[in-house]
Amino acid sequence: MSDSSQNGTDVVVVGGGAVGCAIALWLARAGVAVTLIERDRPGAGASSAAAGILVPEAGPDVPPALLALWQRGQALFPDLIDYLHEDAGFPVEYRVAGRLVLALDETRFAELREHAALQQAAGIRVELLDGNAVREAEPAIAAKVTGAIYFPDHALLDNGRLSAALAAAAVRAGARVQASRAVAGLVLEDGTVRGVRLGGSAGTEVLACRTVVNAAGSWAGQLDPRAALPVAPVKGQMLSLLTWPPLLRHIVSAPGVSLIPRADGRLLCGATVEDAGYDTRVTAGAAAQFLGAALTLVPPLRDCPLESTWAGLRPRCTVDGLLIIGADPRWEGLYHATGHFKMGIISAPSTAEAIAHLIAGTSCDLDLTPFAPDRCLASPSSTPGLTNRPADLPA
Ligand SMILES: Cc1cc2nc3c(=O)[nH]c(=O)nc-3n(C[C@H](O)[C@H](O)[C@H](O)COP(=O)(O)OP(=O)(O)OC[C@H]3O[C@@H](n4cnc5c(N)ncnc54)[C@H](O)[C@@H]3O)c2cc1C
Repeated sequence: MSDSSQNGTDVVVVGGGAVGCAIALWLARAGVAVTLIERDRPGAGASSAAAGILVPEAGPDVPPALLALWQRGQALFPDLIDYLHEDAGFPVEYRVAGRLVLALDETRFAELREHAALQQAAGIRVELLDGNAVREAEPAIAAKVTGAIYFPDHALLDNGRLSAALAAAAVRAGARVQASRAVAGLVLEDGTVRGVRLGGSAGTEVLACRTVVNAAGSWAGQLDPRAALPVAPVKGQMLSLLTWPPLLRHIVSAPGVSLIPRADGRLLCGATVEDAGYDTRVTAGAAAQFLGAALTLVPPLRDCPLESTWAGLRPRCTVDGLLIIGADPRWEGLYHATGHFKMGIISAPSTAEAIAHLIAGTSCDLDLTPFAPDRCLASPSSTPGLTNRPADLPA
């Protein structure tokens, strides 16, 4: 086995999604010798399939530490996007578009009023709009919409470019990125990580390192049987329409669909939340669901061409649905950064910042206790929480 000091790698990051690429960038900028290994190409997994909306929202099921991590991610994005453009020469569309969560009847509007109060109590800016104010903001929205909550700070970005941009920036900052190379297992000795085994058509090879960060998304549980994690995929289907000139300016959500207007005229519609294993086929039922809901909310969409359909796999902790961020108590030098479920794009920068602090042994402003891996290793077989729903956004 080659020595980590000889090959110049102290940290290996497994997985080139938004989370792994952001971690590689953060570590490289901190002067750490880091190599990222991605078996396909950066962004091949959930990170490119996502809707790309940054929509932190308080709720009864959202612990304060989780909301804080989302908000930290949201706060880091403007500078990160500038950095990717100016330093790495890789522009990524980013816009604080605002988000309208629509009500189609008075009962729903009353629920939204309560939801708005919850947001305000958590310090999240919201406004309540009646139906006329909604149509002033978005003239294409149907007359039957009775009102909305407006989140002025909710943003969108082109997640299809994000992972590649982060990977390119990481390389410029000194990281090594190996694509089309899979990690086949960990090298573990005396309770300590010594490296990773690389597989694939190029043959088997050991890459020595002192630290491994497991950012393998929905596959994070399968990295090595001795370091198994309770992570499972949650399927999300989406489709896009072409709208030119764009019919919407804001992100629009309602039961059954969210609509995300990109600058190039694409309107993304999604997403399902399904327990379907590693299946990424798009179904007629999901497409019918999105199109039906979208046309009810924005009738002029009926004339827009259908552009594309796709599906991706959100990584979810099967024990409690929370993130898994931190050191593995079984193996010194092994860290996990996964389980981001519906909010992995917004959480990528804050997760990277947290992992960089953990590896450096410096203090992090975020409370990572609820995400510590040891809390979900005790009962890895329980699988509560997820019921298949045809569509459930924000993501
Ligand atoms: C339809 C949909 C909509 C979504 N919308 C949003 C949204 O609007 N906002 C938001 O914040 N989040 C959203 N999400 C969630 C978000 O996409 C995920 O939480 C996030 O992308 C997870 O990032 P990741 O890097 O952990 O995983 P991934 O992007 O899946 O990356 C994991 C990578 O690891 C690689 N890999 C796996 N095993 C190995 C191995 N052994 N060796 C080498 N490489 C390996 C894979 O090839 C993959 O590229 C959405 C998800 C879906 C599916």
